[in-house]
Amino acid sequence: MTTNSMKWFYYRQNNSGGYWCGPNHVVVQAVNAAMADATAMEFADVYFDGCSTGLDCSCCGDRWSRAWDGEGTDEAMVYDDAAVAGRAVMLVYYDGRTEGGKGK
Ligand SMILES: [Zn+2]
Repeated sequence: MTTNSMKWFYYRQNNSGGYWCGPNHVVVQAVNAAMADATAMEFADVYFDGCSTGLDCSCCGDRWSRAWDGEGTDEAMVYDDAAVAGRAVMLVYYDGRTEGGKGK
């Protein structure tokens, strides 16, 4: 497996309940969306189905939503811009290495 076959998957945090938990933007390198979801959960404290598990506010919606395969990009992106690791932006590489993401 080479990194050339990898894509980047973007996760935007929803401020469910009116507060944030960690970086607002998480961008994960993975071969597909399912692997990106697993990597995000393991290394970035991202979780899914927060409403149904009682972690998130049901009127605000889930804090994090799963990626889907078609949205993978060749470069790490936040919206239409190249992602730059920082407090609000966490990059997670396929091997679990992370950059940024210490706060909002
Ligand atoms: Zn709410």
